Amino acid sequence: MSARVLDGLRIRDQVFAELKDEIARLRAQGIRPGLAAVLVGENPASELYVKSKIAACEQLGLASWLHTPPASVTTEEMLRLVDQLNSDDNVDGILVQLPLPKQVGAKEVLEAVAPAKDVDGFHPVSLGQLVSGREGLVACTPAGCMEMLRRNEIPIEGANAVVLGRSDIVGKPMALLLMHANATVTICHSKTRDLPKIVRGADIVVAAMGKAGYVEADWLRPGCTVIDVGTNKVTDEHEAERLLKRFPPRLAKFREKGSVLVGDVHPDAIHTAGALTPVPGGVGPMTITMLMSNTVKAARLRRASPIAHPAVSLR
Ligand code: NAP
Repeated sequence: MSARVLDGLRIRDQVFAELKDEIARLRAQGIRPGLAAVLVGENPASELYVKSKIAACEQLGLASWLHTPPASVTTEEMLRLVDQLNSDDNVDGILVQLPLPKQVGAKEVLEAVAPAKDVDGFHPVSLGQLVSGREGLVACTPAGCMEMLRRNEIPIEGANAVVLGRSDIVGKPMALLLMHANATVTICHSKTRDLPKIVRGADIVVAAMGKAGYVEADWLRPGCTVIDVGTNKVTDEHEAERLLKRFPPRLAKFREKGSVLVGDVHPDAIHTAGALTPVPGGVGPMTITMLMSNTVKAARLRRASPIAHPAVSLR
């Protein structure tokens, strides 16, 4: 039997519809939530990401501003820009698109963002709020994974959840969110011994390693839920064949295009898991969705009177 496919675009549409209601409530109070994006230099991938984020703002009627310092920008100039955005009352969220050029102290710049406007959820204050279970802004990708689980009614309380990866932006916050939702969480990383054995004990597997098709289908407990965060561009013919031999149409598409996007979990998992997020079209769309949700939330927490209700509850 094939797994239930957890469609990220469907959940994005649900969340957007709810956000539109909340945005209308804020507008009735004279508040238009707004996101300021900072895009340094000319990295095509970053340009594409920022363009999608601004387009999502426009779709929802949020204000947006794009700042484009040159690739030669200094840390001091970036700090001045962040400071200016921190003091602008119309700006609810500040997004500094990564990576930054080598000469810029990325950590220093990210930590200069006012925690109340930290819509990426990367600031140590945001992480501290998450650790201690306080309301705050949560990193978008793991927040999106939780929305996928909740809105698809995957039982979390009491479940054994295995998180593969411990990065500050995905693995760690993901593990904390699952723990707050009363899952029993195991966090794995590159030094973990006997990964297949640990994965076999999981009701929920969240894979965020950046290794194409690394988690084999036979590591999974039949019927488990797989949230595949990995987004890996495969260009090697042999690797594409290893991953897609049971999916002739996708393999044909790879041959036509020369590349294919694959998650961290082997595509054959569709025949073992009970539910899984596809790559692409699963977790991917949720990251921008939660950025929009965080921008609206930041506006509500910082500027609104208590009658504006949240569209998305993360805990
Ligand atoms: P990262 O910072 O490179 O972290 C990767 C993590 O995986 C590390 O903790 C690493 O362990 C662990 N790892 C690597 N090899 C492993 C192995 N063989 N066994 C067990 N653990 C292993 O990556 P990230 O930023 O968290 O992103 C992870 C993936 O998610 C990437 O494919 C990225 O493109 C994707 N991503 C997607 C979205 C989206 O919107 N869909 C958003 C963010 C990220 P160590 O700590 O020991 O090195």
